[in-house]
Amino acid sequence: NRRFVLAERPRGLPDERTLRLEQTQVPCPGEGQMLLRTLHLSLDPYMRGRMNDAKSYAKPVEIGEVMTGQVIAEVVSSSLEGFAPGDHVLAGSGWQDYALSDGTGVLNLGQAPENPSWSLGILGMPGYTAYAGLLKIGEPKPGETVVVAAASGPVGATVGQIARIRGCRVVGIAGGAGKCAHVTDTLGFDACIDHRAEDFAARLAAACPDGIDVYFENVGGKVLYAVLPLLNPFARVPVCGVVSWYNLAGLPEGPDHGPAIMGTILRMKVKMQGFIIFDSFPDSTHDDFIRDMSRWLAEGSIHYREQIVEGLEAAPAALNDLLAGRNFGKMVVRVA
Ligand code: NDP
Repeated sequence: NRRFVLAERPRGLPDERTLRLEQTQVPCPGEGQMLLRTLHLSLDPYMRGRMNDAKSYAKPVEIGEVMTGQVIAEVVSSSLEGFAPGDHVLAGSGWQDYALSDGTGVLNLGQAPENPSWSLGILGMPGYTAYAGLLKIGEPKPGETVVVAAASGPVGATVGQIARIRGCRVVGIAGGAGKCAHVTDTLGFDACIDHRAEDFAARLAAACPDGIDVYFENVGGKVLYAVLPLLNPFARVPVCGVVSWYNLAGLPEGPDHGPAIMGTILRMKVKMQGFIIFDSFPDSTHDDFIRDMSRWLAEGSIHYREQIVEGLEAAPAALNDLLAGRNFGKMVVRVA
């Protein structure tokens, strides 16, 4: 049984000292337990935050503890009602080959689910984040302009496609020409701007001739600063993530953007609301999500892209790739 534990809290980008690969015995399930074998491990930006010993919505991973993460696993053996050998499950067993579970928080996907890894992405946490954050906080209306960055990733790609379904003009922001082409040509956004372009702010302004009504915040940093002067009166800003800042070891150099941010919120009467997907919306919103998303996928009106990385050993480098934008699609590790 291989597992990654947190060896040291990183300052800045995680490095080879951050996570340690350990070999242990495969655990033996007791009464009321099942043994799970990991098939797919999801890699997500929030994992960087769990490495910090900081106050947050979830407690940090302790030193020596298995790194946290959602997985698709197969039930190997079980004395639990409702879980049989061969069942596929969505579980929170983290970065390891095998784990014991008492079934708490585990979702049974059945014996032969179609696209099981999609429950880590478009039909799971990132897809739901996009759906609820956009529709419940962003409240997009037909004809409005919606802007979202990390537009080729699982959250951003889904935000933009749902906004298109709702009749909005959608402008994505992504890193590089390949991602931008995918966002417009395959995902159907009206435009996509490369945030690495020299004249990024001017290009964004040109792509939003009527200003911005909904800015779905995924990245912060220079994207946020370019968006601010384009926000329309009564714009909505669901604050989902600020990934460009997750590896900061201290406050960034340069001008203080506080006055511009707060001044814009005040003068433009902007509604800016943060949310954490686990506890910000009623269960009925999740039911609506599963119903709508299943239909959109079946109709082919939502496109979903995964990047599969082979082998648990590759997970630490793949997480850094994700944080630096070297992923292209939902990052998933095939563990077995
Ligand atoms: P992605 O797969 O889209 O990966 C993150 C992407 O962020 C990178 O691929 C990169 O895309 C972009 N990025 C990284 N650094 C920068 C930068 N400096 N400037 C601009 N873009 C950058 O991630 P997800 O779709 O899984 O997550 C998107 C956001 O949603 C994250 O902030 C995440 O923390 C947040 N989130 C929040 C949840 C909540 O409950 N609030 C739940 C789930 C996700 P590119 O190369 O295109 O720039």
